[in-house]
Amino acid sequence: MPKSGAYMDAGNIYASTSGIVKINNKERSISIEPVTNTPPHLVVGDIVIGQVTDVKDSVALVEIAGIKGKGEREIVNAEQAAIHVSNVKDAYVKELYYEFAPFDIVKARVLDLRNMRLSTVNKELGVMKAYCGNCRTVLKLDNNKLKCPKCERTETRKLSSDYGTGII
Ligand code: ZN
Repeated sequence: MPKSGAYMDAGNIYASTSGIVKINNKERSISIEPVTNTPPHLVVGDIVIGQVTDVKDSVALVEIAGIKGKGEREIVNAEQAAIHVSNVKDAYVKELYYEFAPFDIVKARVLDLRNMRLSTVNKELGVMKAYCGNCRTVLKLDNNKLKCPKCERTETRKLSSDYGTGII
């Protein structure tokens, strides 16, 4: 008998998802335990990678793209998250606009799933990649300052210690 992930058609059993075939001899059933098609579930404490979509006075909105260690696959239980001004860094944040900007790629820790709050309080958490607010060129880290190689504009962010390394 076909069980989860399998179906019967004209007397044959087929997989409806890709994964590992599980045969239960006692039950005389076949099921498929999906591997590639199961998006990971977020849990508190996960480190996520996302893109800043908007920055307001007290929160930066982040669209989550993946969980560290679980690939860049889509996530089931969350897409939209927020970093509150109190969860940016250990120091006082004067203006959230100095810490994040739209399009930034950030690495953050999941604090709370109900309200989808993220934190970047940690030296390896924060902005991984940032774009010039003027010309959209990727900003380069130069003496702890972010500089646009094209128009020489400097910007500030709550940087991850992995900024620009490509390491997640
Ligand atoms: Zn620029």
